[in-house]
Amino acid sequence: MASKYIQLDPSRITDLAPRRPLFGLSRTEMAACLAEEGEPAWRAGQLADAIYRQRIEALSQVSTFSRDLRDRMQAKGWDVCRPQIAQVFRSVDGTERYLVQGVAGPETVETVWMPEGDEGEVGDGSEDEGSGERRAWSRATICVSSQVGCAVNCQFCLTAKLGLQRNLTAGEIAGQVVAVLDRQKVEIGKDRLNLVFMGMGEPFLNYDAFLAAVRLLVEEAGLSPQRMTVSTSGIVPGITRFAAEPAEIRPKLAISLNAPDNAVRSEVMPINRKWPIEAVVDAARAIKLRPRERITFEYVLLAGVTDRPEHARLVARLVRRAGFPVKVNLIAWNPGPGVPYAMPDPMAVERFRQTLAEEGVPVYLRRPRGRDIYAACGQLKRTVEA
Ligand code: SF4
Repeated sequence: MASKYIQLDPSRITDLAPRRPLFGLSRTEMAACLAEEGEPAWRAGQLADAIYRQRIEALSQVSTFSRDLRDRMQAKGWDVCRPQIAQVFRSVDGTERYLVQGVAGPETVETVWMPEGDEGEVGDGSEDEGSGERRAWSRATICVSSQVGCAVNCQFCLTAKLGLQRNLTAGEIAGQVVAVLDRQKVEIGKDRLNLVFMGMGEPFLNYDAFLAAVRLLVEEAGLSPQRMTVSTSGIVPGITRFAAEPAEIRPKLAISLNAPDNAVRSEVMPINRKWPIEAVVDAARAIKLRPRERITFEYVLLAGVTDRPEHARLVARLVRRAGFPVKVNLIAWNPGPGVPYAMPDPMAVERFRQTLAEEGVPVYLRRPRGRDIYAACGQLKRTVEA
């Protein structure tokens, strides 16, 4: 399939030098910066509204501030400094993959826009809300990165090949979302939007920044945590912290299971040697789920390695032992250069799905999105098509 490569006008990419970025600051932090100018704390609300809800990109656009105040702040180096979409790859299926330029370093990260979603949220309690029907897309999902590269080294994942280059800041994580909301003209509260923290990186190995970004998106941008899902490879201390977060800001959890038992999982996800399946499930059991909420087990089907009917029966047993409501999302592995696995046969995928369904497990098959632009699951890596 052909993909379309779009180079944006470089003049749109504003000064990226890390001056004093306002984007990423909480309201309390903004109040402290405004206090330096002798301004009252309530002005922080105006600034947060302009940056996170009106999605302005320059301090000069904060219409509720006097010109004098904006000039004084700018003279001290303050500006919005929101992460910018530097390149766009558009798939034939409408998916867009973005290279987003951060502010704390020269690296770009990848963010994906999936109109109509990828079915990943079906069955986890979030599909009953919202109206949609207002765009060419009736609902959409944004897949967000949390780190540049990743240290976890899942054997089926292209991002793993980068290694970990650095953590993203809270502003760089939330900024990916706001930049895409802006590009797609999403109206919060009207459009059906899901966020998945499933892009590059392991969110629970950059926990503080991840959670600060979630707070900004919930408390300032107005997104619902019940429409956000964070996926972890099974970082037990992170799951334990996550379980203690208040329901008002806690996203839903997805555990990247990908294998029927510890032996296979340690092969495809070496992190399993540190935190085996039982430890991950035990930690997840501490999460106080909302009514109808389920924890998702993400399961990548690798031909001959994880896709046999006996594997499905082992997964069903795991689900029964978990002791909390679970749904399983199946993902037929997306091929990538230099990754030593084969795509599962469609018959094997269907047999696996059917076996789980017969065992009484809620199971969904995620549609591969943007395969032609390397936007599909496990394919996020800084690639520029020739
Ligand atoms: S699948 Fe996720 S956790 Fe595993 S290496 Fe890739 S980005 Fe990291």
